[in-house]
Amino acid sequence: MKMLLHICCAPCAVAIVEKFLQEQGMELGGLFFNPNIHPKEEFDKRKDAVLAMSQEYGVPVSVNELNMLDYWRSSLPADKRGRCSWCYSVRLEEAARYAAENGHDVFTTSLLISPYQDHELIASIGEKAASRHGIRFHYEDFRPLYRAGRERARGKQWYMQKYCGCYYSYAESDHPKKPIYFMENDL
Ligand code: SF4
Repeated sequence: MKMLLHICCAPCAVAIVEKFLQEQGMELGGLFFNPNIHPKEEFDKRKDAVLAMSQEYGVPVSVNELNMLDYWRSSLPADKRGRCSWCYSVRLEEAARYAAENGHDVFTTSLLISPYQDHELIASIGEKAASRHGIRFHYEDFRPLYRAGRERARGKQWYMQKYCGCYYSYAESDHPKKPIYFMENDL
């Protein structure tokens, strides 16, 4: 079975990669496609960690550098469900298209490891995108692997982000170590 893992970041992906690599007959590839990540420096840090993971585990990962920050900023609904729904749809539609075009039977996403994401919404969007492109979406509740993945990434000294990705999530984050990317009135 040829599986494509849509990868949002290395800490979320690594435990899923380890799990899939133990499965017999699984051919695994990855796609880093996250035009939501604001700002560009943050995108690059997450991308570099994913490429380090790709190299270390021998899993080929394609990187899509599309940057939609201005569009995200001007068009994203402000309410969380509305904006996350849109954000999942953009990413999973492209993952489904890429998977189908590159001969994968099935795709899934590392977003499903996060206890902070809306699993039902992701599953519904993933299944619709898969059916539009004639492949399958693999839903699995990877949340039990969340902590192990973060520990693995920390152990390897990969970049650990402090917020989900978009500028709204940055603004809402109260993590004391969040990076200072914005002036106070920039949001
Ligand atoms: S909070 Fe996360 S999933 Fe929701 S719109 Fe922002 S980056 Fe996307």
